[in-house]
Amino acid sequence: METIFHKIIKKEISAKILFEDDDVIAFEDIEAVAPVHYLVVPKTDLESLGSATSNDVEILGKVMLACKRVAEIKGLIETGFRVVLNSGEGAGQSVFQLHAHVIGGREFKWPPG
Ligand code: AMP
Repeated sequence: METIFHKIIKKEISAKILFEDDDVIAFEDIEAVAPVHYLVVPKTDLESLGSATSNDVEILGKVMLACKRVAEIKGLIETGFRVVLNSGEGAGQSVFQLHAHVIGGREFKWPPG
């Protein structure tokens, strides 16, 4: 199913893109919950982590390393950052193309809400 993130990947709607390559795109979340809040989205169709299989090992690794790259670019490696991946409506997923949130620039509590 085509989502708003597919439209961002195809440049049909605009987003504040931090970087992209053949496999992933990283752009600013439109409703930031922290001073730094980016989304890392694979360009291949993948609805959620809950629908991933062993065929997705490589792209999932690329998504994780892209999260690290966001943290590096935004200067968060030393201070720390959080990566959140909501899978399924019950966990708060609202866009059904897998995406990792990279958030930082403030203190975090644990457990999350
Ligand atoms: P989730 O609830 O985990 O599915 O996260 C979806 C995220 O996408 C939310 O944090 C939204 O603020 C964000 N979002 C929705 N539409 C856009 C958009 N057009 N550009 C950037 N972020 C968006």
